[in-house]
Amino acid sequence: MLFKNLTTLQIGGPAKKFLAVSSEEELVQAIEYAKKEKLPYLVIGSGSNLLVADEGFDGLVIKNEISGISGMTSKSGTPLQELVDYTIQNGLSGLQKLAGIPGTVGGAVYGNAGAYGQTISDHIVSVDQLNNSDCAFGYRDSIFKTTKQPILAVTFQLEPGDPETLKKEAEEVLSKRLVKYPPGIKCPGSFFKNLIASQIPPEALKNIPPDKIVYGKLPAGVLLEMVGANGQSLDGIEIASYHANLFINKGHGTAKAFYSLAKTYAQKVKEKFGITLEPEVQFINLPPLT
Ligand SMILES: Cc1cc2nc3c(=O)[nH]c(=O)nc-3n(C[C@H](O)[C@H](O)[C@H](O)COP(=O)(O)OP(=O)(O)OC[C@H]3O[C@@H](n4cnc5c(N)ncnc54)[C@H](O)[C@@H]3O)c2cc1C
Repeated sequence: MLFKNLTTLQIGGPAKKFLAVSSEEELVQAIEYAKKEKLPYLVIGSGSNLLVADEGFDGLVIKNEISGISGMTSKSGTPLQELVDYTIQNGLSGLQKLAGIPGTVGGAVYGNAGAYGQTISDHIVSVDQLNNSDCAFGYRDSIFKTTKQPILAVTFQLEPGDPETLKKEAEEVLSKRLVKYPPGIKCPGSFFKNLIASQIPPEALKNIPPDKIVYGKLPAGVLLEMVGANGQSLDGIEIASYHANLFINKGHGTAKAFYSLAKTYAQKVKEKFGITLEPEVQFINLPPLT
């Protein structure tokens, strides 16, 4: 199986072995098999936040298709959109602004996905055996990035809300998202993490118009734009002309070109502002950018 068929970016070489699992038992067996064979393994969801090397991954890739929602608990392979729709229909408020984020619930927990001021971890009670506070959630961060422990089921606590109002909020978000991410776009979402405004050194902040800070964050795209990233391209990878943190595969792009373009503009930001941009996208079989 080629990663270009497993990722929204449609880039990446072969997985040595590949298995899609639809039950917890299958997932456990797959991991046991990998351990026995001394194969590295990787659990993925919908591949919407991955940049995978052109050489692929020399191990077992386990695609999580364990899905279902019961009460306030969702299995990790459930599409996030399905969970969002479920909460809206049941008059539960707190996840409606995550409408339109591709991927599974497990992937969203791993990277603590969020949008338009809502973040998944704000409404999580527990992930498998761990309480919310054990999950070390931070901005696009969780303990699972360190432990690599497979996420199986997630339990939420949400506030009551009016289904019509929630639906309207989700629709508003979806129409905004359509402008940034037209259907069929080959990308892994925003490439770099935004910056927490309170953590930016005052020296660097001086050069940035204050109205660029949104929800307490400085979008990485603002810095990238200020170093001329918009519309730049390299070997089939293009930075959107309307959004400098959006790197798009125009059809024949490679991980090598993507990596190189991202590195060039991260370096320019570093030189101009003294700020190190960190990728939000997960690298598979690629060295860190900095
Ligand atoms: C068009 C577009 C728009 C996007 N917009 C947003 C946005 O607004 N906000 C946002 O936060 N993100 C956004 N993203 C990024 C992406 O959708 C999220 O990061 C999503 O939550 C990833 O889920 P996934 O199932 O695709 O994970 P994958 O990409 O398959 O995996 C991502 C990481 O999670 C790990 N992982 C996945 N499932 C499990 C599991 N069950 N157990 C353990 N580890 C697991 C993988 O090993 C990998 O390291 C966007 C992406 C695209 C393509």
